[in-house]
Amino acid sequence: MTQVLGIIGGGQLGMMLTEAAKNLPGEISEIIVLDPTEGCPASQVGAKQIVGDFKDESAIAELVEKSDILTYEIESGNSDVLKAMESRVKINPSPETLRIIQDKFLQKTFLSENGLPVPEFIEINSLDGLKKGIEKFGYPALLKTRRDAYDGRGNFKVDSEDDMKKGYEHFGNQKMMLERFVDFKMEVSVIAARNTKGKIATYPLVENIHEDNILRTTIAPARVNEKIIQNAKQIAKKTMDVLKGAGVFGIEMFVTQNDEIVINEIAPRVHNSGHHTLQSSKTSQFEQHLRAILGLELGSTELVHHAIMYNILGPKDFRGTYKPITISQQEGVYLKMYGKAESKPKRKLGHVNIIDIGDSGKVENLLHKVEQIKKEIKFESV
Ligand code: AMP
Repeated sequence: MTQVLGIIGGGQLGMMLTEAAKNLPGEISEIIVLDPTEGCPASQVGAKQIVGDFKDESAIAELVEKSDILTYEIESGNSDVLKAMESRVKINPSPETLRIIQDKFLQKTFLSENGLPVPEFIEINSLDGLKKGIEKFGYPALLKTRRDAYDGRGNFKVDSEDDMKKGYEHFGNQKMMLERFVDFKMEVSVIAARNTKGKIATYPLVENIHEDNILRTTIAPARVNEKIIQNAKQIAKKTMDVLKGAGVFGIEMFVTQNDEIVINEIAPRVHNSGHHTLQSSKTSQFEQHLRAILGLELGSTELVHHAIMYNILGPKDFRGTYKPITISQQEGVYLKMYGKAESKPKRKLGHVNIIDIGDSGKVENLLHKVEQIKKEIKFESV
């Protein structure tokens, strides 16, 4: 039976989900996305679009009305509205999981109650509470907004007494939490999937390099020892066991100086650190997500080629429309632009996947190629 799939959010993740649906002929007859930007990325590759805010109740109701099955590509949807609509449409991952994940404090509480390792954290309700938290954790510590933060935008590093007040006032009346600063060796992540029948599959551990709190580069597989790989895999599996609902999840973790793993955060959706799977793996994370929510067998998560994904972000000193980005054609190099007309500082506009086609297994060769490609990426206004 072919089904109409509704997606809350029609950005690059919705775009790549829409493209992946073409790999599953006969399963999905139509994709409709809800997104506030007219002509959003997903709509440029065949998805229909309802123009509206992710939290707009009547827009969500319209999407539910038109869909047989519903998912999301952003975590800021309205989980209460979705919960109320669960009787009318299949929603995956479940709105309850979304509700827990979209509040960082609830997410960390849930993980630690389930015996999963997270950095120490406390809820912050006052400047005095923040002072007490700093006494407990010491400097530096991370003050975070509990909701609607992404790409590090809701984080404030508290380095001194002065910073305490600054950070607290910076976030105004938003709900906050404080976390102990983890002096990590490396940031890593696991893309994991569970289908509606409860089968779980995890992709190999990858290494993530952030710049200004935004993911810049993913190296697949991560350059860590086997013990860390197995530990991260166990933690990812256990996380999937306790979270409800089907779909792909991105589980971000830190590797500590003692080679231990702590979870930083979970995304209840396909994840930027899984973009390399488009060319490196037997099944892309996008096809995997569709398989999971449609109740199909999960695809193989085997990493066929070592790979690097490099994010193309809007430059700091540039705003506005830009000439098409081009790079010289090379075997094993795949440029994917998201069709966003305007560049803004740090905006995710595209990515490049660089695949180890000779399968030398030498990450240095791939890193060298990234450096060459970086020089070719130029933003010029139109
Ligand atoms: P988040 O938006 O919470 O995932 O944080 C964005 C980035 O901030 C992460 O990728 C880390 O580089 C850094 N970060 C977040 N939490 C911590 C922490 N407790 N200790 C050290 N760095 C952190």
